[in-house]
Formats: sequence, C-alpha cells, structure tokens
Amino acid sequence: MPALGEFELIERFFTRPARRATLGVGDDCALIEPTPGMTLAVSSDMLIEGRHFLSTVAPDRLGHKALAVNLSDLAACGARPLAFTLALALPAVDEAFLAGFAAGLFALADSTGCELIGGDTTRGPLTICVTVFGEVPPRAALLRSGAQPGDDLYVSGTLGDARLALEAFRGTVALDEVSFREVRRAMETPTARIDLGLALRGLATSAIDVSDGLVGDLGHILARSGAGAVVDVDALPRSTVLAARPLALQRECVLAGGDDYELVFSAPAARRAAVAAAAAGVGVAVTRIGAIEAGTALRLVDRSGAGFVSDARSFDHFRA
Ligand code: ADP
Ligand code: MG
Repeated sequence: MPALGEFELIERFFTRPARRATLGVGDDCALIEPTPGMTLAVSSDMLIEGRHFLSTVAPDRLGHKALAVNLSDLAACGARPLAFTLALALPAVDEAFLAGFAAGLFALADSTGCELIGGDTTRGPLTICVTVFGEVPPRAALLRSGAQPGDDLYVSGTLGDARLALEAFRGTVALDEVSFREVRRAMETPTARIDLGLALRGLATSAIDVSDGLVGDLGHILARSGAGAVVDVDALPRSTVLAARPLALQRECVLAGGDDYELVFSAPAARRAAVAAAAAGVGVAVTRIGAIEAGTALRLVDRSGAGFVSDARSFDHFRA
C-alpha cells in the first residue's frame, strides 16, 4: 500500500468538524471569533526530538505534551483556551505514531475546549510546533511585571519530578520501577494549570509558568517587576518520590529542574485567604514559598533562615 500523502494524512489524522471555530482545517486560513470585547492571548512552543523529548516517549503522551506546554502559557496569563494550530515535521508517515499522537492531542484538546483549527505538515526531523489562541478580558491578563515588595510568592503543585525522570533516563540516578513510572508520567504528561490561572485573575500581581526551572523563571518575574525575592528552598513542594532522594539532588531538581509547568505567582499578603480559596476552588495545591522584596536579587534561604548558595540556573538552549 502506498504511503499516505500529505493531504490524506491531514484529512485522516487532524481534520474534525469545526465546533466553536467559524472555519477550521482545510482552507487557507482558519477563522475564529473571540467573545466580543475580549483580548486574544497567543503563544507558540516548539518541541524537537532529542532536545525537548526523548524518542522513547509514547506517541499519545507526546501529543498531550505538545499541547499541554502551550496551554501552560495561556494558564500563566490567566487566559481561557480557544483554539490551536499544529505545525508538524515528520521523518516519514508512520500511521501508528500519528494515530497515537492524535489521540493524546485531541484528548487534551477536548478536555480543555481548545480546538485544532489548522497547521502545516512537512517532511523533516520530528518537530512539533503548536500555537495556541486564548482569550482574556481587557487588562486582566496575568503578567510577569506586577510583583510588589511585600507580596507573597507561591507555586502550584510540586516541582522537580520531570528533572528527576530525566536524570533517571540519563542513568545518573537509580529509581525503583514504581517511582520511575510516577516521575516519568510527570515529565511526559504535564498538567497545564488553566483553571488556576483563571481563578488568579484579579488576585495575582504577577505569574509565570515554570518551564525552564524555578530560579530562572522566577528571575523573569523579578526582572520584569523590578523587584527581588526571598525563597525558602526547604518550602519548595516536592513529591514523595523526590523527597526520598538525597537533599542536594532534591534541591537541584526543585530549583533548576525545568519542564514542571507549574505556576509561580505573587499576590498581596492581604489576599492570602482569597488565594487559598481560589486554589481550593479549582482543586490545585498552592504553596507559599517566599516573598517579593525591594531590590533585584533572588535570595535563597533554608528552613533556618540561613542563606543558601546555589549555582542553579535556568535552562538555556544556547548555553546548555
Ligand atoms: P497552505 O499551503 O495554503 O498553507 P496547506 O496545504 O499547508 O495549506 O494545508 C491545508 C490545510 O490543512 C490548511 O487548512 C492547514 O491549516 C491544514 N493543516 C495542515 N497541516 C495541518 C496539521 N498538522 N494539523 C491541522 N491542520 C493542518
Ligand atoms: Mg501550508
């Protein structure tokens, strides 16, 4: 049987009837209408084999992750997902891969109300680029720039599992089978904190999603806000799997792990109860990890309040 052509491939795996979109896959452009008066929020993230994911990842998990990392950017802005496009480079037409990839992708798309409206398909080294479109009321987007000295600093969920999984794949740490399965799931099927982002509108003074590691991503908030912060390294939430590892490894993973897709955000100390209620309302754990300060420095302290020196730095594709 001859391999599928480009257009049959798009038709078979990536074309579904348009739902909310005015026009979906199949024309020169897709057409979407945001709710009148709303502002569009747009973000792109690219995943390249060997750099952003390992060849061992199951296709459905890769489909999930390609969309999840993009939805995470909408979450960090407090935007509601509307639609996305998918640009794919494939080394060959592998129908089993495409079926699995599409299943994982559409499962997350459906559960978040985010519709695939178009894309591009070409031959090349496996590369996936998703662009998401969301909406947010005018001036309501959560930005990196609003943190104020005195604000509390929070993070959602737990940090560091994806990095621990990566180290296990690299062979630098040994994990039992159950632990490995758990952290591997964290690495391969991250959860975008969309509902939390929506609940933090009007409450958080700044927010970012942790994709390159806490220290680096929090650094973006500080730089944009013109502020410093103090963070209690021992207060950073971690899974029981990570908490069972040596302390130095735990700290490396929570501070500089990356691929966490949790939200780091600031909120006025006076709104502590409102933050707790917002988080409880969406069923997401949030942990107070420190505070915004005057200045520009990020100070890491341990539980005793003593200064803690870390050479943790954020992931940088051109410095790694
Ligand atoms: P054009 O050449 O006009 O850009 P294409 O021939 O690349 O259009 O694509 C045909 C249609 O299929 C377009 O509507 C495009 O958005 C859509 N499309 C292409 N690749 C994908 C994909 N991977 N997922 C979803 N839609 C796709
Ligand atoms: Mg095209």
